[in-house]
Amino acid sequence: MFNHNLIKMVKAIRLPMIFSLIWMGAAALPAQAETKPLRIVASFSILGDMIQEIVGEFAVVETIVGPDADAHLYQPNISDARAVAAAELIFVNGLDFETWSNTLISESGTQADVHIATKGVDPLLVSGDVDPHAWNSISNGVIYANNIADVVMAALPQHAAAIDKNRQEYVKKLKALDKSIRAAISALPKDRRVVVTAHDAFGYLAQAYDLTFLAPVGINTEAEPSAKDLANLITQIQTNRAAALFVENITSPVLIEQLASETGLQIGGRLFSDALSERGGPATSYLKMLKHNISTLLTALQTDN
Ligand SMILES: [Zn+2]
Repeated sequence: MFNHNLIKMVKAIRLPMIFSLIWMGAAALPAQAETKPLRIVASFSILGDMIQEIVGEFAVVETIVGPDADAHLYQPNISDARAVAAAELIFVNGLDFETWSNTLISESGTQADVHIATKGVDPLLVSGDVDPHAWNSISNGVIYANNIADVVMAALPQHAAAIDKNRQEYVKKLKALDKSIRAAISALPKDRRVVVTAHDAFGYLAQAYDLTFLAPVGINTEAEPSAKDLANLITQIQTNRAAALFVENITSPVLIEQLASETGLQIGGRLFSDALSERGGPATSYLKMLKHNISTLLTALQTDN
């Protein structure tokens, strides 16, 4: 009798308990979905870092072309296709930088919207072609930051205020860096403003700070210079009295070493043009990359060799 009553009592309690657990679970679901970070894919490391700075903890950012890698010549693999397929937002540089991205995105079957970080940038033309390396000017970096923030704030309206705060702080840091670079570069004499890099990736930086960059390879790393191109470049280096040569993190140093031996100019260091450095390197973020490049350039240009 006792047992029978107990079973009845347990049954009476258990059913509402089960319903209430289901109800609690159902009620908890939207909250869990809300705290799940957004999945963002960026085409290359510099853009990935900018996005991470702005979204903070509200998104997981994956990058297709990693540190020290050449995004011009990249060949996507199956894990890139998986990352793109699982993404909720995709960011690319645009200006024909990632020539492989359209195929990767369409073949992945992703439902994610694709956003162009350079929207609104005034493109620089080099021999009739658009120079894609817009991030190498800080004023363009601010445009990237604002474009990124607009997209992620719309995707995460519940975190829009925090994301906008991140954007404001980031833009403030970029503008302060731009101001200090302008002050440092304004002290350089006119005849110490010509340098040589492996490929033509610093046109926007040159335009911003009144510098001249010469390069054996054009705006795309694909083209190999001919012997005639190199001979012309050596004449240009001598006529323009270039002050230093620089190797890059994403291209072979061979051409620059050859130019150093033929012109007698010093190699002033390594610049990060199209990708961040690996962890532990000097350019692990966009801000660090800009600081490293400018201080490397200034050190070489201020030293009369
Ligand atoms: Zn490049």
